[in-house]
Amino acid sequence: MSSNLLKIEKKLKSKIYFNYNIGRLTWFRTGGVAKALAIVENSQELEIILNEINNSNFYILGAGSNLLIRDKGFNGTIIKLGKEFNSLNIKENKLEVGAATSDLSLSNYALKNNIEGFEFFSGIPGSIGGAIKMNAGCFGSETKDKLDSIEIFNIKSEKQIIMRKDINLNYRSSNIKINQIISKAIFNFNYGNNKIIKDKMENIKKRRLLSQPIKSRTSGSTFKNPPNMFAAKLIEDSGCKGMTFGNAYVSEKHANFLINNGKATASDIENLGKKIIDKVYNKFNIKLDWEVKILGDF
Ligand SMILES: Cc1cc2nc3c(=O)[nH]c(=O)nc-3n(C[C@H](O)[C@H](O)[C@H](O)COP(=O)(O)OP(=O)(O)OC[C@H]3O[C@@H](n4cnc5c(N)ncnc54)[C@H](O)[C@@H]3O)c2cc1C
Repeated sequence: MSSNLLKIEKKLKSKIYFNYNIGRLTWFRTGGVAKALAIVENSQELEIILNEINNSNFYILGAGSNLLIRDKGFNGTIIKLGKEFNSLNIKENKLEVGAATSDLSLSNYALKNNIEGFEFFSGIPGSIGGAIKMNAGCFGSETKDKLDSIEIFNIKSEKQIIMRKDINLNYRSSNIKINQIISKAIFNFNYGNNKIIKDKMENIKKRRLLSQPIKSRTSGSTFKNPPNMFAAKLIEDSGCKGMTFGNAYVSEKHANFLINNGKATASDIENLGKKIIDKVYNKFNIKLDWEVKILGDF
């Protein structure tokens, strides 16, 4: 697989790196090496690269804000969408957004164009591809709210449009498969009042600064909230706030955030998570479910 990429890399605008320390591209800033990293310039080259990889192991990386790469790394190709996938356009009555565009850029673009309903994206440090896969959301809004459809590529390099109703977007989940690459999102929108949109974004910024350790090496909420409950409260009430494992610890500011103190291995973080799962289960008989995606070999 990487030998195939080696053969074609010189003909491409896309950048291919071999034995790349992929952990450094995640918010946790830890984890191992991937056989190859392809930063894909455009759709045409995405097709070429997928054809070369054929059916072997690959994984699509967004902004790495919800991902833990295990210390032994990933025995395959990590695909990261580059230039062409970083785009924002209003086309008739739809907003077309490339999957590599940051959530913050989308909300700033919406503000500039007096478009309402995209303010919450300013509170999520991911890409639009990752937002759709996770149905990311905060402060009462979710990615699915305004989504019309998405464009994806599958392992056979086939491009397909999928309508929102067929993506099964639920709380921090979707039915996007591991071998489907979202390349573009199409949103419905309405115009609104610039001052109201701006105030909402400022309010979100203030609330996040007060409640989340957003400058740390973290992946945000580690576990999903069980129905009608808050994972952070269960974690706190199980005595886990401030708990450590190696060089990873549970945030004092937000108990559902695990933090790398700068020297944590991925296994410190994963083991800390497992310790929390056990403690919460022993106290409340509730099994927390990881929201953070974990990739790689033990
Ligand atoms: C400080 C902080 C605060 C956070 N706050 C929130 C919050 O309030 N609400 C919330 O929902 N989340 C929050 N998160 C989590 C995270 O930002 C979201 O889950 C985000 O949507 C992940 O996007 P990403 O681009 O970083 O995806 P990644 O972490 O790179 O990947 C996550 C998953 O999405 C898949 N993926 C990424 N791009 C694509 C694509 N183009 N096609 C197909 N699959 C893709 C990956 O394969 C992986 O399975 C927070 C994280 C941090 C670090």
